[in-house]
Amino acid sequence: MQYELAETHYPYSRYLEETFGGKTYKVVVASGLTCPTRDGTLAKEGCAFCDLRGSSSFFGKKGRGLAITAQIDARLPEIRERFRATRFLAYFQSYTNTYSDIDYLRSIYEEAASHPEIQGLCIGTRPDCIPDPVIDLLEELAQKTYVSLELGVQSFEDPTLEWLARGHSAQCSIDALQRLAERAPHVHTCVHLMFGSPMDSPAAARDAARILNRFGVRGAKLHQLMILEHTILARRWKEQPFPTLSLDQYAQVVADFIENLSPSIYLERLFANATHKEECLAPEWSRERWTPHNHIRDFLQTRGCRQGARQ
Ligand code: SF4
Repeated sequence: MQYELAETHYPYSRYLEETFGGKTYKVVVASGLTCPTRDGTLAKEGCAFCDLRGSSSFFGKKGRGLAITAQIDARLPEIRERFRATRFLAYFQSYTNTYSDIDYLRSIYEEAASHPEIQGLCIGTRPDCIPDPVIDLLEELAQKTYVSLELGVQSFEDPTLEWLARGHSAQCSIDALQRLAERAPHVHTCVHLMFGSPMDSPAAARDAARILNRFGVRGAKLHQLMILEHTILARRWKEQPFPTLSLDQYAQVVADFIENLSPSIYLERLFANATHKEECLAPEWSRERWTPHNHIRDFLQTRGCRQGARQ
């Protein structure tokens, strides 16, 4: 028997419908940039959890070295066919896509935005790589086209950030959110958060949601701590295994987050699944797509979770 699911949270699909009037798909493009945790500025091996080789950035990597327009043209036919989408956003997903001089950033963003099939930009970056001139450029573009800044905050707790080898503090993220709120009101900021590190405090999800509420961010994207091959975490875990969250524990964290989050903030994703399951060491449920999806949905429904109920 089919039954109606009550809406537990503001889903990304509704936000896209409200913003663009229909199904919209992100086309991954490679900016050709790197990260301060990869080029030796802060570190060389990347953040402790990050396996760019195995991530969905794979698609973007195929286009590295190609002009932005050529990358978009190469991917669009397949996406149109496969997902039946009619609206597209250029997605600078992998690495730190504001980690360059303004002239270069302007050139790649404007090239993507001027593609006739592209309705806007999604730009992934780190909170320590958005100086004011970059924010001002984003705001200038956002007054002409849709701009979403995907900000990899991961945690608002310093012990976790240190353990994840992020190379920036929680205060750095708060400063970035503050400056974005003040200088870039047209930019749709979406904050990426990761829960399940052994260093997380029991209040990590609740506190993170309440911080987002203060800065007028538009969206949040959640993922669980995953231990993937070829990462610092994998090496640590093999030397001395540490606990990761069970699916039930993670669902509880997601519920805490949602209940403390303003109902005006959309949720783009509640968990991640490993792109290459054989490379996911833990937690095992990260290898599946539908098991965590259904479990988290049922958990939220059974608990009567409502976004913002405890904010
Ligand atoms: S998590 Fe982001 S900032 Fe860190 S190494 Fe990976 S792409 Fe770079």
